[in-house]
Amino acid sequence: MQNKRINIAVDGYSSCGKSTIAKGLAKELGYTYIDSGAMYRAVALFAIREGWITDNNMEESAITEHLSQIRITFKPDLFGVQETFLNGENVEKEIRTLEVANGASRVSTLAAVRTEMVRQQQEMGLNKGVVMDGRDIGTVVFPDAEMKLFLTCSPDIRAKRRYDEMVSKGESPQYEDVLANVKERDLRDTTRDASPLRQADDAIVLDNSEIGIDEQLQWALNMFNKITGNNEQN
Ligand code: C5P
Repeated sequence: MQNKRINIAVDGYSSCGKSTIAKGLAKELGYTYIDSGAMYRAVALFAIREGWITDNNMEESAITEHLSQIRITFKPDLFGVQETFLNGENVEKEIRTLEVANGASRVSTLAAVRTEMVRQQQEMGLNKGVVMDGRDIGTVVFPDAEMKLFLTCSPDIRAKRRYDEMVSKGESPQYEDVLANVKERDLRDTTRDASPLRQADDAIVLDNSEIGIDEQLQWALNMFNKITGNNEQN
């Protein structure tokens, strides 16, 4: 029996397996999983469709002025897996392309975009029982989260994992492009002015370069049990 509902923040670099561990935790604990990156991806998709993001240009004012027209929601599919909706349209598949990932990394540097996303994310966590993954969850969105994980992993292994995932979905990416995308996003995430990616002082770091998914999840569940004083599980 669980004695206390908490919020769990999972931060770290791109393609570090944050969503795998966050989804696993949410499933085991009966918590709600929220993919904050999907929200930045949805904003990027909106802007790409409007022509406000191209290879070498981003119309910042057009994006920030239209933020109130962008409504992002999540709904579980038939198997209970969260899907992302942009103004009521299911965009789960469309937001997972490299083009949108790149656009998300760019729109997420805009302070006005971050302010609006953070506001919506904080609202989602008001009743606790949320596992949210992203870059600034433990530092900005839920600075008071009772449990904070910070994941790291070497860029090569991350690119390989992302590459395999894309191939398994029937896409045919070039490994070099995926690696370049991982490195480019790391650079932007860590150097932007508006809430750059950094580890919260009270976050627990996990380098999962050499650790399998089951082991990571067990480790995280043990930590949850310690934090909540719930020693009846495991
Ligand atoms: O996590 P994911 O790769 O889907 O995120 C897409 C992009 O959104 C990231 O490259 C990152 O720049 C940005 N992001 C962010 N803050 C978050 C989540 C994602 O800046 N909390």
